[in-house]
Amino acid sequence: MADQLSIIRPQPTSRGYKSSGHFYVENFPLARAPHILCAMSKFSIAIVGAGLSGLISALSLQKFAPDVEFAIYDAVSELSDIGAGIGLAPRAWAIIQAIGLEEALLKVAGDGGQPCIPHMHRKSDQAEGVIIDRTVRDEMNYSFFRAELQRVLLEHLFPKNKVRLNKRLVSYVQRSDGSAIVELLFEDGSTAQCDVLLGCDGIRSRIRANMYSQLADQAQAEGRHDEASRLRSHITPVFSGEIVYRCLIRKDTLPEGVSEHPAFNASDLIIYCGKNRHIVTYPVSQGRVLNVGAGVSYPEQEGTIYEGSWTSAAGREEITKEFVGWEADVQELVQYVNGGLKWVINVVTKLPTYVHGRVALVGDAAHAMGHHLGAGAGQSFEDAFLLAKLISHPGVTKGNIPVVLGIYDEVRRPFTQHVAALARRRGKLHHLDSPELAWLTAERSAKGDALSQEQLGEISEMMERCRDWQFGPSVLEESVAAQRKLEGAFQSL
Ligand SMILES: Cc1cc2nc3c(=O)[nH]c(=O)nc-3n(C[C@H](O)[C@H](O)[C@H](O)COP(=O)(O)OP(=O)(O)OC[C@H]3O[C@@H](n4cnc5c(N)ncnc54)[C@H](O)[C@@H]3O)c2cc1C
Repeated sequence: MADQLSIIRPQPTSRGYKSSGHFYVENFPLARAPHILCAMSKFSIAIVGAGLSGLISALSLQKFAPDVEFAIYDAVSELSDIGAGIGLAPRAWAIIQAIGLEEALLKVAGDGGQPCIPHMHRKSDQAEGVIIDRTVRDEMNYSFFRAELQRVLLEHLFPKNKVRLNKRLVSYVQRSDGSAIVELLFEDGSTAQCDVLLGCDGIRSRIRANMYSQLADQAQAEGRHDEASRLRSHITPVFSGEIVYRCLIRKDTLPEGVSEHPAFNASDLIIYCGKNRHIVTYPVSQGRVLNVGAGVSYPEQEGTIYEGSWTSAAGREEITKEFVGWEADVQELVQYVNGGLKWVINVVTKLPTYVHGRVALVGDAAHAMGHHLGAGAGQSFEDAFLLAKLISHPGVTKGNIPVVLGIYDEVRRPFTQHVAALARRRGKLHHLDSPELAWLTAERSAKGDALSQEQLGEISEMMERCRDWQFGPSVLEESVAAQRKLEGAFQSL
């Protein structure tokens, strides 16, 4: 019967059986690999990618779906998140609380464990900067040094769930022989099997590439040629039009007296805005370090394929020259930047589906977005959490997994794509490049009197409206509603 648990006890004589009782069979010829599940586990999940979306998927499954086995694979030989700071807004924090990591993460959060509450926007591409707005939000926004966030998440994985490193996925196949098995092939020639595959492998996802190649091949074979080429276009991410320099300034390396600078002095998140440029600053590592992100946009290149390297080292000169003529605080700030990482911001195009059969895309693999809402990681947390909550439903079996993933797609795809559109809009506003400001040239903007207080107020309101999505039903309420949807879908099976 399709819905019955297919539990096969591990055979000690099986070539794939390990003393830990793990059910994955590696380095075993695919045709002969037995599909072995541990007693008590309903089915097996492979999580490919141990970035934030992979780790939160694992921690959520560990917490909410203990009757499901999973294994995490990552291509790298050592996990060390690059980049600089990352901010987690209330919706993402609610997930951290739900999976029981609040206490551990507060120890490494932002400014001495205090939430980073005040936000200030300034118009700074002029000799005398002006405040666009300053909001003291009664909402938490925790900032982290990425490597510390990742370390804490890794430390909370149960030992049996340790990440398998040096496992670069090359391709997967969903068997069509009725066994409902997904077969994974890694670059080192090893293979594995699972019942569900979660593609948490980031913006350049191999799993998305495989999924959309397969969907396109199918459309092609059925004579839907235009659709096939549309489907193929989703494989490669496109340039957002923006390059960001990500830098960290250790406060103990600064000269005397610098503490008066607003960026070093307060726990605020400050965004210095100007035509086609911005700088964001906020404290990380309990206030010992200032995160500085400096963005430069090339609007005419948005949507093109960026051929060069996506990340490279950048020296101080490269960064400071972009902000010549800006207000004094910015000029001073960039002098303390001792180089950084140049990050070409690419995005995933608006996908028509996040799932195919027993395979689901999670996080950046599904919806890598612009960074101006600081929401990309938070959205991957929400994907991971909702998926784990759906999988934890007692009615879920190996047989009805495609229905579960269908609900995930139905709930998460419109939401994340809406957030991605708002992140783009907010970036345009930060860079004074929204359709309303198309008339504003860099020269006009630098004069300082191009925008009245009233116009600055309108920009502030438009920026604020880009955050509305955060204040609907909570993540927990949404997961309950999604489970109800799932029950409805089960009833109509
Ligand atoms: C400048 C900038 C600032 C940002 N700031 C914020 C912020 O403040 N707040 C926020 O919420 N978000 C922010 N984001 C977005 C956030 O960084 C991403 O959304 C998030 O890190 C995505 O996590 P992920 O796990 O989906 O992907 P990734 O972090 O890319 O992880 C993917 C993992 O998959 C592995 N992998 C890749 N290919 C394979 C393969 N073939 N086989 C096996 N493993 C593979 C990789 O090694 C990696 O470990 C920002 C992004 C940028 C660019």
